[in-house]
Formats: sequence, C-alpha cells, structure tokens
Amino acid sequence: MSSSRIAARVQRIKPSPSSAAADRAAELRRQGKTIINLVVGEPDFDTPEHIRRAAYEAMERGETRYTQTAGTLALRTAIASKLQRENRLAYDARQIIVTCGAKHAIFNALAVTVEAGDEVLIPAPYWVSYPDMTLACDGIPVALACSESDGFKLTAATLEAAITSRSRWLILNSPNNPTGATYSTAELRALADVLLRHPSVMVLMDDIYEHIRFDDADNVHLLNIEPKLRSRTLVVNGVSKTYAMTGWRIGYAAGPLDIIEAMDTLQSQSTSNASSVSQAAALAALTGDQTFVTDSGRVYRERREYAVKALNAIPGISCLAPDGSFCLYVNCSGLIGRTTPRGRVLNEDTEVVLYLLEDAGVAVVSGSAYGLSPYFRMSIAANIEIIAEGCRKIAEVVAALA
Ligand code: PLP
Repeated sequence: MSSSRIAARVQRIKPSPSSAAADRAAELRRQGKTIINLVVGEPDFDTPEHIRRAAYEAMERGETRYTQTAGTLALRTAIASKLQRENRLAYDARQIIVTCGAKHAIFNALAVTVEAGDEVLIPAPYWVSYPDMTLACDGIPVALACSESDGFKLTAATLEAAITSRSRWLILNSPNNPTGATYSTAELRALADVLLRHPSVMVLMDDIYEHIRFDDADNVHLLNIEPKLRSRTLVVNGVSKTYAMTGWRIGYAAGPLDIIEAMDTLQSQSTSNASSVSQAAALAALTGDQTFVTDSGRVYRERREYAVKALNAIPGISCLAPDGSFCLYVNCSGLIGRTTPRGRVLNEDTEVVLYLLEDAGVAVVSGSAYGLSPYFRMSIAANIEIIAEGCRKIAEVVAALA
C-alpha cells in the first residue's frame, strides 16, 4: 500500500501548466523584473456594466439562497433560447444543467460516464485540462495528433484509426484553445461520418469560444450537420469568455437526459448549485444587450491581425492565423538547435519559452503543455501596445541567437 494519503487518481494529475507559467512570471515580477504577460487565458475586459448591475439587483431582491441544483429555471430557459437562437439546437430546460464554469460541466460529464480504463479521444493540441480531467476520472486520455499542415484539426482518417472498443468520448473544441482552429462544415461532416460508424462513441462539443471568431464563416454546429449524433452529444458552453465573466463561474451543458440527470445527482452531492448571484448575472448576459460581444470581437480581431503579422516577420518563427479564440500557436522549430548569448542550446520549446521569459521578459506557454511541439502559445487577451511590445522583445532576443 502506498504511504501517501493522497488518492492515486489525484496523484496522476498535475496543476495547469498555464497557471504554473503565470506563477513563474509573477515571481519574476516580484523580483523587480518587467514581465509582459502573454499567458493569460481570459478576456482583459471588465464584465459589462448591465451584467454587473443585474447581479447587484439580484442580491437586493434576496436572490442569495440555494437555487435548484441544475440552476434557476429562468437561466436554463434563457440557455435553451440561446441554443435555439444562435445554434439552431432545440433543448428544453430539463436537458440543461448550469455548472460552476464550463470546466465543471466537462469534469462532471466525464465523472458520470467514464469507467476505469475507458478512453477519451482528445485532438492535440488540446486545452490542458482535458487529459488531466480524464485521468482524475480513471480514464485513459488518448491524444490524436493534429498537424499544422492540417490546420491543427482532427482528420477523419486520424479519428477512424484511433477508435477502439474502449473509446468513450471524443472531445471537440472549436474554436480551439490553444490554436484557434475552427472546423468547417465539410470537416465536421467528415468527422460525423466516422462517428456514425461507431455508435458507442459519445461527443463532447466544447463551444466556449464560439463567439470569438475571425473567419466570418457561419456558426455551424456539429448537430446541425448531423442531427443523428444528438442522442450521444453533450454541448458545453458558458459565459466566461463571451461576456468576460471568468470569475463568475457559470457554465452549462445541454444533452441527453440520462447524462444531465446523472450530472445533476453528482452536483447535488458536491457543489450544489452554481452561485445564485452569478446565475442572475448570466441571465442578464444571455438575454440583454449583446453589443459587448461584437465590440470585443472586433478588438480581438485587430490584435490577432497585428500579432500574426509581427510574429511572421521574425525569422525562425511562424504562425498560422487563427480562425478564433484568443490565442496564437506559434511554430518555433526554427529556433531549435540555436544557441543563446549565454551559450545555452535551445533543444525544445520549453527551453525557448524559458529564454523568452528570462531574456525578453515575455511570458508565454510552451507547446509541450498542449501536446504538440515545438510551439508556444501566445495570448492576445492583452491590449495591443502590450502585444506589440511583446513581439518587439521576442524579435530582439531571437535576433541575438547564434
Ligand atoms: N474549455 C476551454 C477550451 C477553455 O479554454 C476553458 C478556459 O480556459 C474552459 C473550457 C473553461 O471555461 P470556464 O471558465 O467556463 O470554466
């Protein structure tokens, strides 16, 4: 028997690498260094005023008590309307659960469905939490490599080859964190055709970045393309990214009744309802003025144009223009094998990232954290002057490499 008091399922997981990178940057700041933080995974805007006001008014009305575990009927009805209006998906309030962020929805979905040894198919580069959540639920994360030449997207052939009798879930995240890759109708159709041949695989669609889009394409959902997948698809979303509400912790899942009911039971014995005040704020976000969504989208687009151009002008690094989300996934293969002014050879992307942090004072996250190297992720959730200064400093220290 192990002498540790900590359960094996927790010993298997690690803290988020982006939090670790942010902590390292904070430590250097404490030491008096100027650090340009391009690690951030959240909007740099404040939550819009009308949403904050709704929270205040809810408190004044006394909405400070437990709600139903699955969330207030008003919020679940607003989510159902949102899914109908924006995604052309029909769900009723019973098929929806409000959670403490989209992260909680994904964790609970895996917790109620994954048996020990079940495989969860995760296209790489992936959001760092999917593999660790899978491990925490006794599952086996299976990373499916998506190359830059495929636009960092899962192909039908890779999916087909990866499916086994133990495959429980496929997690699709579009637009993707960290690459910004967004699936087209044709690409979703090809994946749907594979999935139709494998009825035991469930699909978790993580739509959290759906409104941060740069490609002007229609917002087409996998379930619009193949409604037959509906009985085994869980749609996950939330207000964190779209409405700059990361701290309010409101996410949700919509899907088959058995999964939603199981998530409700688990939630009733763990967190109970998400914060009542945050639910009131999320209701205002979904039903109120949507100007913030278009305005912030325009700002992200300007930053993305600027950053892609600035990075691609630096010899040795290159970057595909992302279709959405607020990250760039930067190819740094041209820096591997080069030598720093202090004589250190950069053998992998983690060393490139350390060099950028220590010599340029620019904090980014290494591609190894997201399952595809040699790359680094650079956030554009910072104002354009900060992004410009970051790119300028990166260019300077790259030019100093031998
Ligand atoms: N899904 C992806 C791809 C994310 O990048 C994040 C947050 O970084 C989440 C889900 C979690 O969002 P929330 O803050 O609603 O828990």
